[in-house]
Amino acid sequence: MASLETYHRKRNFTRTAEPAGNNFAEADGKVNPTKGGKFVIHKHAASRLHYDLRLEQDGVLTSWAVPKGPSLVPGEKRLAVKVEDHPLEYGNFEGTIPAGEYGGGTVMLWDRGRWAPFESGHKKKKKSEERIDFMLSGEKLHGLWTLVRTSGRDPKKDNHWMLIKRHDDVSDASELTDLSVATGRTMEEIAGGKAAVKEKKKRCEKPEEKIIPTKCRI
Ligand code: MN
Repeated sequence: MASLETYHRKRNFTRTAEPAGNNFAEADGKVNPTKGGKFVIHKHAASRLHYDLRLEQDGVLTSWAVPKGPSLVPGEKRLAVKVEDHPLEYGNFEGTIPAGEYGGGTVMLWDRGRWAPFESGHKKKKKSEERIDFMLSGEKLHGLWTLVRTSGRDPKKDNHWMLIKRHDDVSDASELTDLSVATGRTMEEIAGGKAAVKEKKKRCEKPEEKIIPTKCRI
């Protein structure tokens, strides 16, 4: 398969709205594009603000609550608490969960795209070790991360994992927009029930306005 390495090297996909491509050919052929699936990241203002990383696996969205969200700094680790699997349809959900209900608060579709596993060369210490090395090709996030289960002796931390940003050629730590990838809304606008900003989005389709997506919200 031809490589998109040069195409990716020349572009910063946190700044340009050009497609990054979903065939994952950029990672030296170590990414398996036939596996993986969709991913979403919800920003969730529940009793505590957190981000929910959800990876499509075996017909459901396996999910981790990441209090600080995914890091963009290679080597940096973030706590990721495994939570219950969610239905695939949840990947389209954005809105407000009523106060007092489970997870009550505002939910934004912060990022979405495809994920695929990659061959990291990591040798499992134990057969039971749970670990996912993966590449994201989203609307905001691109590049390599690892999820590894860290729990062991403390049963209270049985669901504790770490989300680790890995070194790669495609990502950098540029600031990302904090708007919904589905509707262009802020958390406040979602909470206030503001209609999706489809009209405003259309205006951003002029090429010169597409370079920095943050400019698209007026
Ligand atoms: Mn949540």
